[in-house]
Amino acid sequence: MLDAAFFRRWMAAAAAAVDREAGRLTELDSAIGDADHGANLQRGFAAVTAVLDKEEPGTPGAVLALAGRQLISTVGGASGPLYGTLLRATGKALGEAAEVDREQLAGALGAGVAAVGRLGGAVAGDKTMLDALLPSAEALHESFAAAREAAEAGALATAPLRARKGRASYLGERSIGHQDPGATSAALLMGALEGAAG
Ligand code: ADP
Ligand code: MG
Repeated sequence: MLDAAFFRRWMAAAAAAVDREAGRLTELDSAIGDADHGANLQRGFAAVTAVLDKEEPGTPGAVLALAGRQLISTVGGASGPLYGTLLRATGKALGEAAEVDREQLAGALGAGVAAVGRLGGAVAGDKTMLDALLPSAEALHESFAAAREAAEAGALATAPLRARKGRASYLGERSIGHQDPGATSAALLMGALEGAAG
C-alpha cells in the first residue's frame, strides 16, 4: 500500500530528477520555447519539498493537493498551473484515505490528466506533456515500470509532431523535429514514481 510517506518520497525524487536534468529541459525549451522549463520546474519542486517538510500532510491526497497548490503559486510558466492541476486533481481523486494501492492511484492519475486537458485545451498529439501523461496513466494500471516506459516513449514520440498548444505552437512547422520539454519532464515525474515504489 502507498501511504503519505510514499507520496513525499515521490515528490522528493521528482525534485532530484528535475535538478539533475534541468540543463536538458532548458535546452529542449530553448529550441521551441523560451528556455525556462528547467528553471521553472527546479524552482517549483524545490518549493514543493520545502512545504511538504514543513507541513507534513498526513494522507496521500493531502500530500498531492499541497504539492499542486505550491507548484501553481511558485511557477510562472504554463507548466506550473498545468502540473499543479495534475497533482491537485489527482490528490482530490484519492480522497482522504490513509493508504491507497497502485490501481487507485492509476485511476486518480487518469482524473488528474483529464483535468490538465480541460485546463490547457490540449489533446493527444498536440505535442505537450499530455503525450507522455495520457499513455502513462493508462499503463500505471499495469505496473510502475510500464508507466515510466510509456511516458518515455510518449515523450520521444513528440519529436516529429507539430506543436498545437503553448508557446511552441507559435513556431508552427518549425516545432517539428524537437522533443517537447513538458513531455520530457512528465517522463521524469513518472520515473520518480517508479523510483519511489522500488
Ligand atoms: P512556458 O511555455 O510558459 O515557458 P514552460 O516552459 O515551463 O512554460 O512549459 C512548457 C511546456 O508546457 C510545454 O513543453 C508543454 O509540454 C506544456 N504546455 C504548454 N501549453 C500546454 C497546454 N495548453 N496543455 C498542456 N501542456 C502544455
Ligand atoms: Mg518555457
